[in-house]
Amino acid sequence: MIREGDRVLLIDRRGKKYLVMVSEREFHTDLGILKLGELIGKDYGTSITSHKGEEFRVLKPDINDIIAKMRRGPQIVHPKDAGIIIAYAGISPGDTVIEAGVGSGALTIFLANIVGPSGRVISYEVREDHAEIARKNVELAGFSDRVTIKLKNIYDGIDEESADHIVLDLPQPENVLPHAVEVLRPGGYFVAYTPCMNQVHRFFQAFQEYREEFYKPKVVEVLVREHEVKKECMRPKTTMLAHTGYITFIRKL
Ligand code: SAM
Repeated sequence: MIREGDRVLLIDRRGKKYLVMVSEREFHTDLGILKLGELIGKDYGTSITSHKGEEFRVLKPDINDIIAKMRRGPQIVHPKDAGIIIAYAGISPGDTVIEAGVGSGALTIFLANIVGPSGRVISYEVREDHAEIARKNVELAGFSDRVTIKLKNIYDGIDEESADHIVLDLPQPENVLPHAVEVLRPGGYFVAYTPCMNQVHRFFQAFQEYREEFYKPKVVEVLVREHEVKKECMRPKTTMLAHTGYITFIRKL
């Protein structure tokens, strides 16, 4: 049931989405004015009609809706990459994940969603402005209860004594290796997302010193090819997101 203060997703006849908080107020769109108070007490899946007679469907927003609408600072990790990070590292409800840097908080939100209320995400960030954006985005997603954002350079060390996994999206993940070997539990993953091949190369040069501590590494990149689904023709879309980053997985022995 929809309550006052809930965030809901409205979808108009053109497919345009709006993320709004429900209260006794009006919401103005180019398809007319909505009285959001009418939604209180209704179930998700209902619709609301503007003063111009336009209908908007009402859904409970998921994390992808939140991430699509939230404020962005630096470039975020794309859902296709977040998905493979979570799946390949086996990140699970109840896990403690150490993350850096937090950036806009998109990956933080994916991690917080999967670790659930009994898990923890501890996110290191060097820039105060990025930490502030991420803090607000994490709050918008409703995950402030399980996420701690620390203003600290993770290259200088990890404060926590242990972690199930370490997930990094920063320029020099190899600088975190000496700290990771101290805190990662056996079986836990060290994951590094890096946009450039030379970063992967540099990482593996540094990794040689630690290779006895980890199971054999895996490096992947994820290509997703979307298709157009039309009555007369189903085929791949003309354009695709060709490259985001390389994802390196190493598992602590
Ligand atoms: N994964 C984030 C997301 O999905 O929104 C985006 C991360 S952004 C590309 C990289 C972030 O790492 C920046 O905010 C940067 O300030 C931070 N950073 C870079 N080096 C760092 C370090 N040594 N310790 C902590 N944060 C660092």
